[in-house]
Amino acid sequence: MARYTGPVCRMCRVEQKKLMLKGDRCKSDKCPINKKRAAPGKDPKARPGKRSDYGVQLREKQRLKRIYGMQEKQFSLFFERALRMPGITGENLFVLLERRLDNVVYRLRFASSRSQARQIVLHGHVLVNGKKVSIPSYLVKAEDEISIAEGSRGMMVIKDALKEYGKSGAMPWLSLDPDAMKGKFLAVPRRSDITDLGDIKEQMIIEYYSK
Ligand code: SF4
Repeated sequence: MARYTGPVCRMCRVEQKKLMLKGDRCKSDKCPINKKRAAPGKDPKARPGKRSDYGVQLREKQRLKRIYGMQEKQFSLFFERALRMPGITGENLFVLLERRLDNVVYRLRFASSRSQARQIVLHGHVLVNGKKVSIPSYLVKAEDEISIAEGSRGMMVIKDALKEYGKSGAMPWLSLDPDAMKGKFLAVPRRSDITDLGDIKEQMIIEYYSK
């Protein structure tokens, strides 16, 4: 599947929001969003125009899709799956996104960004319940154990990323033993547990796909 290979920060500049796609750089002064640079192709002196309803819905969908590093086809399949699940579609969508293996690897602090987590999974460094899984979109279940393969535990990229655990800990639906490089997906999170994605309005995304 074709992936976006251009400058990552450009995606944040298009959305004019921090999508936190580059790990530590996102928290530093080097982040272009901190410098309030205009969106690509926009005159920095131009007054922002009023967006149509469709424009607002599109931007919300693009923002969530980019945060989780997904392509349109895969994201729309996740949405269709969320629609078929019992319960509230918007909440279901968040739960499915959070269950992605690359996201869980990122949340467990084995990687400093979701794109780095994706690479770690693709290269076979991650085990689920003791078995190698190299599919980033694999859906983790409650009680699954996620660990780093024994031969990969010396990787500096993982050791460096794990330092974040000492500063911020893990999300409440996860547990982690950083020394053993082993964690557990304790339970499926609720929408209200996922507090670090900014002001995403899932209702807008539902309206976008309902057209
Ligand atoms: Fe780049 Fe991260 Fe800032 Fe986004 S939040 S512009 S990815 S440094």
